[in-house]
Amino acid sequence: MSAAESRAPGSFRAILALTLVLVAGLAAGGWYLAPRFERDPPRIELRPDSGVLGRAPMEIVVADRGSGLLAVTATLSAGGTEHTLASEHYAEAVAEKKIAVSLAAKLAAVKEGPAVLHVTARDRSLWNLFRGNEMSIRKNLTIDVTPPTLELIADDRYVNFGGAGMLVYKPSADTATSGVRIGEYFFPGYPGQVKDHPDRHVVIFAHPYDLPADARAALVATDRAGNTREMRLVYELKNVRYRKSTIAISDAFIQNKIAPLLRDEGARQGTPKEIFLRVNKGMRKENEERIAAITKKASPAILWRGAFSQLSNSQVEANFADARTYTHDGETIDHAYHLGYDLSVTRHYPVEAANSGTVAFVGDMGIYGNTVILDHGLGLYTLYGHLSAIEVKVGEPVRQRQILGRTGETGLAAGDHLHYGVYLNGVAILPVEWWDQKWIDDNVQPKLDGQSGEAIARSQERHAPRASARKRRR
Ligand SMILES: [Zn+2]
Repeated sequence: MSAAESRAPGSFRAILALTLVLVAGLAAGGWYLAPRFERDPPRIELRPDSGVLGRAPMEIVVADRGSGLLAVTATLSAGGTEHTLASEHYAEAVAEKKIAVSLAAKLAAVKEGPAVLHVTARDRSLWNLFRGNEMSIRKNLTIDVTPPTLELIADDRYVNFGGAGMLVYKPSADTATSGVRIGEYFFPGYPGQVKDHPDRHVVIFAHPYDLPADARAALVATDRAGNTREMRLVYELKNVRYRKSTIAISDAFIQNKIAPLLRDEGARQGTPKEIFLRVNKGMRKENEERIAAITKKASPAILWRGAFSQLSNSQVEANFADARTYTHDGETIDHAYHLGYDLSVTRHYPVEAANSGTVAFVGDMGIYGNTVILDHGLGLYTLYGHLSAIEVKVGEPVRQRQILGRTGETGLAAGDHLHYGVYLNGVAILPVEWWDQKWIDDNVQPKLDGQSGEAIARSQERHAPRASARKRRR
């Protein structure tokens, strides 16, 4: 008895010591072993998760933030056949893997219609008797590898370089986005604008001034599965000759007019040339990017009526896309395109809205000074710069010739004038066409009235300048 009694405290101490070691060991080992025994399965995400799969790639994003990924498989069951889209095994832990899968290479093998996508991912955890955690998803999809169809109803035979054109077309019902793509530019089309034909789409597009004359233009339609149909657009580009001019910049102009545009005191330091370039290059670029962002948010309906009006009694002082060369002390220091018209009448002359629309922007726009931008719908905007006063508010509807403010010389302006710009879906375009009632009558109105392409073509033929006639006149 006494021996047993004496052993008890000893074994208690041993158990206590062992427990302490175990607890300490678990705590220490926990730091090391936790990721290895983590119980969070990998996550699987589909981008886009649209429920359709077509020619455009879909991304399967698999991630495991704990122990990392070990293996991923993706299979597609369609029409009784199983297709392996991906089967990957990783030698080292991978936290995230993006697997692009596409049916573009399997078009002949894959049947259109309902399908099931099965994705399984396993991590490197030692949980589940060292098998790790598995995540598996099954997703019902529709396989669609057929691009939408496009029917061109009315187009333009002639487009001015830097100017606009209008197309009427009918995309098939499965179309998600459609419009004209030229170079890096995309001009979206809108339904519901053609009289008696709600399914016809209208797109106003431009051949932008900064693209080469042979830039390829196409009418494109894309469905939800990313299948795209392209129709090459053929038009004769009329070569509008842009003027070149040289502007000599004086130190006084830089000190009095250009430097004050820079808000930051530090930015006003440096040589006159550096200060000039900060505004004419840096600030101009910022301003054009901001204008592009504003004029890319199109209202999906036409807000204007008929021809746009030129500021009454005004003279055009500088043309659209005039190539300007800036010199300082006889040295060429910069080049820029003038992206509008300069119109002058008298000091603080009332500035009229060129057409009806909604006020999209009011405020300081750097080189353009106090500026108003009007939204006329379908991506078409007009800009009024260098104003001395503004009399409208953002969101306000305006009528044609309603007073927006007064001319002035705010921003980069030498003398009181209005800088008038026309923008289409983010890019400056030739303003004169929209002032021209005959151009609207030939190129815009018949299409909106639902006339056939042939009838419009015959009319355009009558109005088009003939090469022989042009030669004789010279
Ligand atoms: Zn100007």
